Amino acid sequence: MIPQERIRCLKDLPPQEGKYVLYWMQASQRAEWNHALEYALLCANERRKPFLVFFGLTDRFPEANLRHYRFMLEGLQETQRTLKKRGIKMVVRHGSPEKGVLEVAQDAVLCVTDRGYLRIQRQWRTYVAERIPCPFFEVESEVIVPVERASSHEEYGAYTLRPKIKRLLPLFLKSIEEKKVHRPSLFLPPFPGELDLSSLDELLTQLDLDRSVSPVNLRGGTERAKEQLAEFVTEKLPLYHTKRNDPSENYLSGMSPYLHFGQISPLYIAFEIQRAECPDLAKESYLEELIVRRELAMNFVFYHPHYDSFLALPSWAQETLLTHAQDRRTYLYHLEELEKAKTHDSLWNAAQKEMVLTGKMHGYLRMYWGKKILEWSKDPEEAFRIALYLNNKYSLDGRDPNSFAGVAWCFGKHDRAFPERPIFGKVRYMGKEGLQRKFPLSSYIERVARLSHDFP
Ligand SMILES: Cc1cc2nc3c(=O)[nH]c(=O)nc-3n(C[C@H](O)[C@H](O)[C@H](O)COP(=O)(O)OP(=O)(O)OC[C@H]3O[C@@H](n4cnc5c(N)ncnc54)[C@H](O)[C@@H]3O)c2cc1C
Repeated sequence: MIPQERIRCLKDLPPQEGKYVLYWMQASQRAEWNHALEYALLCANERRKPFLVFFGLTDRFPEANLRHYRFMLEGLQETQRTLKKRGIKMVVRHGSPEKGVLEVAQDAVLCVTDRGYLRIQRQWRTYVAERIPCPFFEVESEVIVPVERASSHEEYGAYTLRPKIKRLLPLFLKSIEEKKVHRPSLFLPPFPGELDLSSLDELLTQLDLDRSVSPVNLRGGTERAKEQLAEFVTEKLPLYHTKRNDPSENYLSGMSPYLHFGQISPLYIAFEIQRAECPDLAKESYLEELIVRRELAMNFVFYHPHYDSFLALPSWAQETLLTHAQDRRTYLYHLEELEKAKTHDSLWNAAQKEMVLTGKMHGYLRMYWGKKILEWSKDPEEAFRIALYLNNKYSLDGRDPNSFAGVAWCFGKHDRAFPERPIFGKVRYMGKEGLQRKFPLSSYIERVARLSHDFP
């Protein structure tokens, strides 16, 4: 059973005399552990109709480039293959997702979609709900606790959201039953404009993409995500709580790009962590990040209309940063210098290069990296824009609720006030000295230097 609280009716109409039940896949790009997919399949089975999956591939997604598209398409290629084995046809078409789904929905009995929290994802769903000729449902599958059930308003920080989430976990931390397909849809005739995902190189050349950022050596898709998670659970999870902040030893799971594209379910990850044989402290520490911190970011982008700008900061942070906007900067860098990792700070340069070259920066360094952009930019608003721009351009997991929350955190979001100092005002400061005392940073810098012969 899919908990009723995960499901919302976006268009309340009687079911139509259609040819199939339709799942518009958008945020949850996977064939398993997907509440929206399983709910749609249940509807199809009850009505004895074939079950069709649709994905609309736009090459206009804000801030997405070749690096992101390659990874996403690798995932979609696998998802299409896996669904085929279950007897389910998945149609991928080029064009605006919201317009594409309306065309395919003309012959649908009803339509189900998954839930995304970013502005564009919500606009797409509203557009479809206003025009679709059949019942339309949205099912929340990218969070453990549905966002509005966890809280009815924007939370101040992890400390206010945590007790609410924890209280609800027993209700929502439940596995998903995979249903058998009663009426396969593979026999349905080809749809006009259906894309062939068998050759990604060819497909990628046909799309009108920003090609300025090249793909990285990390394969997208559920299979690779699960392999990587399994390696993490056996090799790193037992020490996650003690080593996760140390950039010289990568003790992180690397799940964020897969989570971002919906290629792995947070619920699946939580179950794998819970059943691991390792210290409770390690599991708790990981689940705090995966559930409380990640869902705080969802809460933020869902409830804050300006989540991607300086206006997202609490008023005390905006005020204090603007009060110190004219403070003298010992180092002042422009976007181009930062982007090319040309600062005086070898640690910062290494972190920037790691992100550009691998599509990922170590989690602890992300904080240092963002704080230094604030310290070295002409003013805090410009710093905010630069940090978000670079994060979203190069990180495979960029453009995510976590991206907006992570960058905003560097400027005071979800944090408290500290004693006042230049440039930062009351916003928390982070210096290299503290990091140097705790971690052998030279080995991190050397590791990145070994990759850097490819640095543009
Ligand atoms: C300036 C800055 C920018 C950031 N940009 C992004 C981004 O673009 N995309 C992104 O997914 N995360 C971002 N984060 C949050 C965090 O750094 C990453 O989620 C984490 O490093 C991802 O690596 P991992 O999957 O190996 O993490 P792990 O430590 O293995 O954690 C597992 C999962 O928990 C969640 N998680 C971990 N840390 C955080 C956190 N601090 N806040 C929210 N959720 C967390 C993520 O979903 C992550 O995949 C940013 C943080 C900062 C300070």
